[in-house]
Amino acid sequence: MKKPPVFLCDLMLRRLARWLRILGIGCVYAGDEGISDDDEILKFCLKRGCVLLTRDELLYRKAGSYVKTVLMDNESPERQVKALTGKFGLKLGRKFLGPSLCPQCGGRLERVGKPSVKGKVFPKVYELNRSFNKCADCGKIYWKGSHFPKLESFHKKVA
Ligand SMILES: [Zn+2]
Repeated sequence: MKKPPVFLCDLMLRRLARWLRILGIGCVYAGDEGISDDDEILKFCLKRGCVLLTRDELLYRKAGSYVKTVLMDNESPERQVKALTGKFGLKLGRKFLGPSLCPQCGGRLERVGKPSVKGKVFPKVYELNRSFNKCADCGKIYWKGSHFPKLESFHKKVA
């Protein structure tokens, strides 16, 4: 399978960035990289070979033909994801695209043993869950209850 493109979400697309990561689609959020002005964003995309996602028509025009850009003409993250999967032929099957990435930073999530999260999550969470994932980059800990129900309903809408 061809590797899906890595997207760069501009500052207005924070929610989309989180959703793409949850669905396992690699993306960079401009805010995390501390880049905000148009030229910085375009330079970043060129350097990293990212596809720019923006709601800013001016930026879209500026990108012209030298940075691949998608103008997101809808505000809802569901519609935005749908537009992207359609455009890039990304298949969101029952099992999503890939394992989720950290919604916070885009890092890889790794399964970690229950004892290793003791004291790092609320006691109630520790008690009620058996499996935990940890972000390899920022160290944030996730468990099924933290985003799973939302993920499932979102997935139903976009798949
Ligand atoms: Zn992370």
